[in-house]
Amino acid sequence: MLIPDLNLIRKYNQPGPRYTSYPTAPHFSADTDQAALAAQTETEDSDLSLYFHIPFCRSLCWFCGCTKIITTQQDKADHYLDLMEKEIELFLPRIKPGRKVQQLHFGGGTPNYLTPAQIDRFSTFIHNHFEFHPDAELSTELDPRTLTQDHITSFRNMGINRASMGVQDINIDVQEAVHRIQSDECNRNALQWLRDAGIPSCNLDLIYGLPKQTPESFEQTLHHILDYAPDRLAVFSYAHVPWIMPAQKILEEKNLPTPEAKLKMLEKIITILTDNGYHYVGMDHFARHDDKLAIAQKNKSLQRNFQGYSTHGGVEICAFGMSSISQTSRSYRQNFKDITDYGQAVTAGNYPIDRGILLTDEDVLRRDLIMAIMCQLELDYTAKSAQHGIDIKSHFADSITSLKPMEDDGLLELNDDALQVTDQGRLFIRNIAMAFDQYLTSGKAKFSKTI
Ligand code: SF4
Repeated sequence: MLIPDLNLIRKYNQPGPRYTSYPTAPHFSADTDQAALAAQTETEDSDLSLYFHIPFCRSLCWFCGCTKIITTQQDKADHYLDLMEKEIELFLPRIKPGRKVQQLHFGGGTPNYLTPAQIDRFSTFIHNHFEFHPDAELSTELDPRTLTQDHITSFRNMGINRASMGVQDINIDVQEAVHRIQSDECNRNALQWLRDAGIPSCNLDLIYGLPKQTPESFEQTLHHILDYAPDRLAVFSYAHVPWIMPAQKILEEKNLPTPEAKLKMLEKIITILTDNGYHYVGMDHFARHDDKLAIAQKNKSLQRNFQGYSTHGGVEICAFGMSSISQTSRSYRQNFKDITDYGQAVTAGNYPIDRGILLTDEDVLRRDLIMAIMCQLELDYTAKSAQHGIDIKSHFADSITSLKPMEDDGLLELNDDALQVTDQGRLFIRNIAMAFDQYLTSGKAKFSKTI
């Protein structure tokens, strides 16, 4: 069991990136050469990881920070699928023949906003246009409140073998305060349907820091969730950013927990989950000890990208739909966040790229080091020096020296040949990775707190 030191959390709880990319998204620019961004794919040979953003939701959860469109007009999804299919057709000639899909993910919004017929239609399209590895991992996010068994049948027919469901909190007072009512029966039905359909692997998302939550109420929620027996759990800290998401202002009148109460919740999250068979992967993620994510971390093959932690590295992420972010070995590009801009670009036969970045050699080097800290919890100086043809210890002497106070606080060990994150340091991997981030001093970005 990991017992977090609350004094250290107070000390190191500062704004910092989540490092789903490096450089991080605030450093993507609309001035980056779009033709050069689109052309990056042409020289790649790796397997593909496909991402499809389905932005629609039937009602607004007041805490939500996602890029979504609230609507009940189902035909909007037909039109949107038309656009995504056109975007894929525009992009496909860039991909060398023979490259196969190793990973696929539907995010949102709500992927099961699509009707079963719409899922079937899109499934036929993607299977006609991409070749999949037999062991490919295909996953989707699901909203249990609007999920039916027919949705699951369609997703299963597509090849989906992993699901992720938002639960957030099972306490009814919290659910009413955030405008998301979701019964225990609804959660249990969804999990049973997934298991019956042969999709046994399920991740559940919770959020702490919501109105009406107390450390005691959240402890009850955690024990309740343990009874659902998910393979993975993501327990996110609620990010209150009403200047970006105005609907969040509603929550200010509903008793948001104090920072001290949130700290106590975090302590309960880590102790209760690690005491009940879950491995603390890092950041907000927990996985059963026999889950692929936990095994990948032990084998040092864990990766991190825009979908969080992943077991598949070395893939090109080809993302489609509004706001989605693609990643090649030397670039990131993001589509327009506004559906009108996205639709106009695609309809005109243009790539809907809003902004991006082409990576320098230094970016590639620092990304590798930052991802090693975030995923493998160590930096092996000898291995990384050999891999990059550079003396890591002397190149990053200032960064390594700046970590000394964290070593004194027991968050890491600085040995002659490696930097090792300690168990206590897992809570602070963002702070440790920040020592290798060249862009932090630019002041361009505003990040959430590291804990
Ligand atoms: S939390 Fe999920 S279901 Fe709720 S509004 Fe946001 S994207 Fe939609």
